Amino acid sequence: MAYYEQDFKEIAHCGANTTINIACDDEGRKSAAFGIVSRSAGPMSAVGVYILLPHGIPVSDFKMGGIGQPFDPPLPEGCVPAILGSDSLGCWGHQCPQCGGYFRNGHHAAIYPQTCPYCGLRTAAFQFLTPAQRGFLAHLAGTFEEELAAPDVKGTERQVEIDMESLVKQAADEPKPDFYYASQTQQTRYNCEHCGEFNDIRGLYGYCAACGWRNNIQMLAVRLEEIRQSLNSAQSQSEATVGQSVSAFDAASRDLAKQLVRRIPMKPARKEALSRLVFHDVESETFKRLKDFFDLNPLKGIADKDARFIRLMMERRHVYEHNAGVIDRRYIERSGDEEAVEGNLLRENRENAHRLIGLLMRMASNIDKDFHEIVTPTEWPISYFKERQKRGRHGSVLKRTLRVIHAAGAANVRKVRILPVHHRLDFAHAVNVSNAGCYRSIPASRRTAAMGRERHQRRRADAEGPLRRRMTASSSERCLPSRNRVVIV
Ligand SMILES: [Zn+2]
Ligand SMILES: [Zn+2]
Repeated sequence: MAYYEQDFKEIAHCGANTTINIACDDEGRKSAAFGIVSRSAGPMSAVGVYILLPHGIPVSDFKMGGIGQPFDPPLPEGCVPAILGSDSLGCWGHQCPQCGGYFRNGHHAAIYPQTCPYCGLRTAAFQFLTPAQRGFLAHLAGTFEEELAAPDVKGTERQVEIDMESLVKQAADEPKPDFYYASQTQQTRYNCEHCGEFNDIRGLYGYCAACGWRNNIQMLAVRLEEIRQSLNSAQSQSEATVGQSVSAFDAASRDLAKQLVRRIPMKPARKEALSRLVFHDVESETFKRLKDFFDLNPLKGIADKDARFIRLMMERRHVYEHNAGVIDRRYIERSGDEEAVEGNLLRENRENAHRLIGLLMRMASNIDKDFHEIVTPTEWPISYFKERQKRGRHGSVLKRTLRVIHAAGAANVRKVRILPVHHRLDFAHAVNVSNAGCYRSIPASRRTAAMGRERHQRRRADAEGPLRRRMTASSSERCLPSRNRVVIV
């Protein structure tokens, strides 16, 4: 995808307009409902944040729920429910309130806390709103107050839209108003193997923003697989492979240990003792200290002969990396290699390299497991992901929702709509109702495949024809059930 060819590149807003529907009843009492409308076919998701008037300060996330369900938690006094649209890839930019680090992920969850990939802070998602998103909320609050003060005829209603759509369509060099917010690509993108969530972070290692699992082992597995492949295809020699794989293991493990030092309160002396950890030597103080201080045991479950093999290979790495492969006294004394002769060149074979990679991965997994017993992950996204995998991933959820829509019949499809989407993404929004309390749509291509071309074209004609106009008239009602209206007497 073009967006991902560069680090730190702006990703446009999805172009969905936040709407405010203002109604004036026969007695002159006004009420308002907030919604969102998107007229483009690209990915978008929407979340709800309660903002405090008059300045639009975010105070809480809320779960939008399904048709007829009230927002959860209920509206706090003095607040209105603002709806925010994602970036044009359906993801969210976030900024950590503690360390200031910026990251993206696929969620702004209302029902479980979010984790900062960099410092590990775990708190409500709205706390991670970026300054630009906060600027938008302030603008929304200002617009709401202005519109509410404007005169209305009794028994009428009207809809105001914060026009993001035309801002997105502007040329890139045209200045955009302060309330416009976009997001920015980072450097490492991955789907967390524990909860399936997308993450886009600066650097290589980080906590998953959804479940809080650190990605070191996932990244290490990728790197070790690359090393294996280049060994198998004879692009690199066994000697080089030993050095590369130990380095990768060392970097991933050291980063985890650094996190422990950073996050667990300890005396300065202990901090100092942990400041020079090396994972390329199993005999080093590192392994002993990790065991003593944190009950963290990289060699757990590894047989003695394998542990001896690891020690031998780590000594060999030292020779390859620091002595051009020539056997020295240190190697003879420390490796336990009885055939070694000082001054000879040390030769490596492929089997040893593969065996080492397998054992490094086992040690890393031990560290990871122990680490996450101390720094515990958020359970909800992990168990939700497991459950989804059991059901056969997204596909079956989508198919089941489609079956519901099919069963309802084409004429009733509109009743399934839960947002005022001219977006033609109705059922996709429905898919996500149960997922963390925000709505997510999926790209047209996947939808078309699932629904069949004919149905897609019919919907398209609907969306662009009379239906669109009809929906515009009452879209906020459709979006937010009346009990979610804010009544201002
Ligand atoms: Zn942080
Ligand atoms: Zn995760």
